[in-house]
Amino acid sequence: MNQMPDPRTMARRTAATACPHDCPSTCALEVDVLDERTIGRVRGARDNAYTSGVICAKVARYAERIHHPDRLTKPLVRTGAKGSGAFAPISWDDALDLVAEKFNAAEARYGSEAVWPYYYAGTMGLLMRDGINRLRHAKNYSGFHSTICVNPAWTGFIAGTGRLAGPDPREMAKADCVVIWGTNAVSTQVNVMTHATRARKERGAKIVAVDVYMNGTMEQADLPVLLRPGTDGALACAVMHCLFRDGNADRDFLERFTDAPHELEQHLRSRDPQWASAITGCPVETIEAFAALVGATPRTYFRLGYGFSRSRNGAANMHAASCIAAVSGAWRHEGGGAFHNNGAIYHWDKTLIEGLDRHDPSVCALDQSQIGAILCGDADALFNGPPVTAMLIQSTNPVSVAPDQTRVKQGFARDDLFVCVHEQFMTETAKAADLVLPATMFMEHDDIYQGSGHQYIIAGPKLIEPPGECRSNHEMVADLARRVGAEHRGFAMSPRAPS
Ligand code: SF4
Repeated sequence: MNQMPDPRTMARRTAATACPHDCPSTCALEVDVLDERTIGRVRGARDNAYTSGVICAKVARYAERIHHPDRLTKPLVRTGAKGSGAFAPISWDDALDLVAEKFNAAEARYGSEAVWPYYYAGTMGLLMRDGINRLRHAKNYSGFHSTICVNPAWTGFIAGTGRLAGPDPREMAKADCVVIWGTNAVSTQVNVMTHATRARKERGAKIVAVDVYMNGTMEQADLPVLLRPGTDGALACAVMHCLFRDGNADRDFLERFTDAPHELEQHLRSRDPQWASAITGCPVETIEAFAALVGATPRTYFRLGYGFSRSRNGAANMHAASCIAAVSGAWRHEGGGAFHNNGAIYHWDKTLIEGLDRHDPSVCALDQSQIGAILCGDADALFNGPPVTAMLIQSTNPVSVAPDQTRVKQGFARDDLFVCVHEQFMTETAKAADLVLPATMFMEHDDIYQGSGHQYIIAGPKLIEPPGECRSNHEMVADLARRVGAEHRGFAMSPRAPS
């Protein structure tokens, strides 16, 4: 690990890093570093062609978060009833000894699957987010099937296109029509709007927004398409119906690059705008106008968002929406095609980070979304395995965000469940824990990030020292590994290099 500069000689400087939040934009950032413990303004990097100098309001004000007086800065052990919020300080050594004691006791009584490391995307840094899996694999603790956010959307897109990737998102600026579907880009993906509005200004491109309420993106669109939740597939079918009906289907493209164009056309014959209007609640004229615009605009870029993951039939809806670009042949053209996420373009070897060489596929992988049922002892959710009696939670707040919240809270209230939460603030989950450990924020540790909404890999170096006794996810996991007898060479490495 590089040494931090001496504050007596360190001038104010501007440093480069990446936003760690669970957001496809993974913005490249410029940070004013005022001294070894203090940052100032945060801006979007101008030299990153996707970020293009623009970031959202919340991260522009990151100094307020990183220097917030409510940050956790000391390890805390519960002293009152579960969930009471009564804690007392404890040393890191004593805290980690306690975690190890509880984990080893759970393993001795029920087997290693009684321990469930649980995490999510509080940081998207590959090392700090995923390193907890190294501990899991080295110890055969219960696995973690990530299901809250992405599965329906990813599955549907891959079913439609064969690959979780698409045209360079910067090509939106070269489109003549940008369809922003299932994402409120004005609020949550500002960079999409940067490139879409550039196309509008420079090329006269039209912006279409498809969503289930009149959000900010819908208000800025030339054609807002409002539909009932979970009915996107009907809209997509009607649009494709019109493309075939009006002679706007690219039959040459379909023959060369798709597997069942004739069956699709036959299937869509009865899926006309009247049929779709009854399902979606969207007027026939709007569906016709959308289809006519797509049919007349070869360079149409479909930016398909995570809204598709918010309904049970999201995979089928995403599949249908992703197919419009194939029927119209938009994929042929620069500035055309369909894009959701670029996960398939990266080819990391994550053996060291995740301990994949120790992965035993026979170990049960529990469903992230089923945490309520799992902690309440539901045999199906546990796959008839042992109860979960010990947890380490990093970078997520399931008491607040997991489905079936009543059962989640019941589960966390169990007296026979030991929970260690490694966090930045006293979240609802931290308050329900037995032990709370203070975690670093992204500018306080080294990590590396990949863009899902673009194709940059961005280093995020440590820029300042953390407050109090905060430790990074990597440090915490490595320190615990030694105590529970988990062996893997990744535990002995610094975030940057072998130590
Ligand atoms: S838009 Fe997303 S990636 Fe960019 S700064 Fe905001 S939260 Fe971070």
